[in-house]
Amino acid sequence: MEIAPSDVQLAWETAGKRWHSRLKVSLWIAQKGLCHWCGTFCLLPYHPGYLGHKGYPGRLSATLDHLYSRLNPKRTQRGLGVVVRYVMACQRCNQRRNQEEQKPKSTDRIDGI
Ligand SMILES: [Zn+2]
Repeated sequence: MEIAPSDVQLAWETAGKRWHSRLKVSLWIAQKGLCHWCGTFCLLPYHPGYLGHKGYPGRLSATLDHLYSRLNPKRTQRGLGVVVRYVMACQRCNQRRNQEEQKPKSTDRIDGI
């Protein structure tokens, strides 16, 4: 599914000024709104249903995620550039990866996830 020009415009209008918000929108457009990990269409603040439980961004909200996990040495490699190090992912995947990184013995998940 292509993202309509009106969506691109709305996405930028509601992006805010912070660099990570703007990078998130850039990636959202580049990835056609699809989560890098699961391919689900991610929601931006202007989408109905963006907010979930208790008014916080919901499980399908778009987030800025690190391409490499905390366990991957590439995460801190110099010269990769900020755009290469981040992907746009749904909050569900972002949280799942976060939880896996917190596990003490997850050294077998070095690349990819
Ligand atoms: Zn996802």
